Amino acid sequence: MDCEELFFILSDYFDQELEMELHDEMEEHIKTCCYCEFLFDTFSKTLELCSEMEQLEVSPEVHLRIIQLIRIEIENDTR
Ligand SMILES: [Zn+2]
Repeated sequence: MDCEELFFILSDYFDQELEMELHDEMEEHIKTCCYCEFLFDTFSKTLELCSEMEQLEVSPEVHLRIIQLIRIEIENDTR
């Protein structure tokens, strides 16, 4: 699995809609990639915050939006 792949399935992971195999591959990748580790961390914290603020289900669109924002931030950081 590469970072791009992980990026696409990240929201499924949190929805627990991932196949076991992908799920494991993803966790494996996160252990070895600091970029994705950070992405994963930030994403899960953001979701936590969202669910604390309102008991609303976070839509896939919002998931994607969050990931994109995090991504831009990381890219700006590393430049
Ligand atoms: Zn990665």
